[in-house]
Amino acid sequence: MKKPKSEKKKPEFVLYNFIKGKLRAAYKKLPAFSEALTRAKSDYYVTAKNGNQMRRVHYKCAGCGRFFKGGSKKEPVIDPVTGEQMVGTKGRGKGKPLFKRIKSEIAVDHIEPIINPETGFIDYNDMISRMFCGVEGLQVLCNYAGERDGRKSCHAIKTKEERAVLAQTNKRLKAEGKSVTTKDR
Ligand SMILES: [Zn+2]
Repeated sequence: MKKPKSEKKKPEFVLYNFIKGKLRAAYKKLPAFSEALTRAKSDYYVTAKNGNQMRRVHYKCAGCGRFFKGGSKKEPVIDPVTGEQMVGTKGRGKGKPLFKRIKSEIAVDHIEPIINPETGFIDYNDMISRMFCGVEGLQVLCNYAGERDGRKSCHAIKTKEERAVLAQTNKRLKAEGKSVTTKDR
């Protein structure tokens, strides 16, 4: 049985996570962020069933060199029979044109991770200067769930490795009596 909302446990508020999330959102508005995407972008046209030319934008992964769909954009839902855009049939979307969300398959990645896995978290100044790097510090990596062509996404592989090193670093820091918990930051 579904629990009523009031009984659901709220995740604990951690200021560090909150600040990091806000900084991350701000960083996505940086010119360097969109420039990194532009540099990895390539577009081409495909012919739709109705003969229209449709623009497709793909991004080249800096890791594996494969091409991936970018941006969590909306795309019209096309009726396979008529070739026309479909409309909603129920609720608030009734009669309105239907769109589907195209899930982004790429990530703009910091070549040097925001938290240096070798040193662990130092302070907010360090984190900010690493996060707000120039376009040279960024790369576009494929980022998808599961496996494709028999391999995980480059972003998944990279972050897994970084986390493993950071876990070792934090273990060492802890053994030295230093606090590594995000709540103490
Ligand atoms: Zn890749």
